[in-house]
Amino acid sequence: MMCFLNKVFCSTLHLRVDMNNQSGVNEFPDENYNPDLPEPFKAIDIAEIALDSANVGIWIIDPVSRKFLPSERTRELFGFLPKEDMSFEDAMLKVVVKHRKSAVEAIENAFRKQHALYIEFPIVAVPDHKQKWLSVTGGFSSPNVGNSYFSGIIMDITEQKQSDLRRSKFIGMVSHELKTPLTALKAYVQMLNNWAKKQKDNFSIGALSKVDKQVKKMLNMINSLLNLSGAEAGKIHLNKEEFRLDTLINEVVEETLFITATHHIVNAPSEAVTVNADREKIEQVLVNLLSNAAKYSDKSAEIEIGYVLHDTTVEVSVIDQGLGVEPPEIEKLFLPHYRVESKETEKIAGFGIGLYLCAEIINRHHGKIWVESKPGKGSTFKFTLPLN
Ligand code: ADP
Repeated sequence: MMCFLNKVFCSTLHLRVDMNNQSGVNEFPDENYNPDLPEPFKAIDIAEIALDSANVGIWIIDPVSRKFLPSERTRELFGFLPKEDMSFEDAMLKVVVKHRKSAVEAIENAFRKQHALYIEFPIVAVPDHKQKWLSVTGGFSSPNVGNSYFSGIIMDITEQKQSDLRRSKFIGMVSHELKTPLTALKAYVQMLNNWAKKQKDNFSIGALSKVDKQVKKMLNMINSLLNLSGAEAGKIHLNKEEFRLDTLINEVVEETLFITATHHIVNAPSEAVTVNADREKIEQVLVNLLSNAAKYSDKSAEIEIGYVLHDTTVEVSVIDQGLGVEPPEIEKLFLPHYRVESKETEKIAGFGIGLYLCAEIINRHHGKIWVESKPGKGSTFKFTLPLN
């Protein structure tokens, strides 16, 4: 058996193992294989072959002693030798600096709150110094921490990441090409609308207003796809400027009411506030949060948007009385392409990229974004931006 497959690990897998084997030597070469072994032993051998051939590493953290036990494959994935000592800190030092803090925070958060863990990060491992991407999945084996282990698997997802990158470059190119004619179309619709107003041509005014709505919806989608491709390539570029956040919120509320006239949006009055941020991107965050609030709640249900000022930040909240989100889903909402799968959400269209983009944009501004939610009662999405 793998050296770390002691009773601890097997209790996680609900399997029994030979506790006397402390040799650390992989026992499974073919010549040792004994078809007469009891079933659980065979099951572990089979699991080991499957994990090895899939290039999957395993790790365990004992919640009491905080001891970190990586498998040989885990060490190899982090660029260490199979039998080399590797502490949790050693492993994290291999993570590319830009991603290190968020990776450590995500693991600590999942550990502290006993949540499921899923993270992806790039590492630079010797000897070839090439960057590769790893994914880490984990969780507690039982809700009783005293009797449970925080454990999971590690996989090399470099190839998948590279193909994602190619795909998102393609999406970026296509959406860029689509945006140019659509922007021209929008300008012509506005010109025609002005002309129709002068002529008092009510039919054209009504028809052009519908065209304008659809063009705006398409532009929002294209902007999301453009930002997605930038975010996936790690390149969200910010054009910061000083602007009045309250004015932007008013504009976005009007725009949302124009596109989604089904809901009642309350824009809570607050004192004027100026921020130094990328206006277009913050607009996209607000559009995403407001359109989600409308999408995931009943027509005519009230949505409230407002903000409060703290010493160094402004905190914006979008409150709805909609479906809400079950606690295990909350951590995953901000992952790319993640959508909650339920009877209620299956009929609601979406790409699962809106919240991921919101999080990327807010993080790039050194702000925070999170959600508080009660299933069946509604959700409050909040984000902060630093004040000048
Ligand atoms: P999309 O709405 O296109 O699926 P998002 O990234 O905006 O993608 O949202 C991800 C998921 O989070 C949604 O599929 C939905 O399940 C959930 N979600 C987002 N906003 C809300 C909300 N206001 N209320 C309930 N669930 C929400």
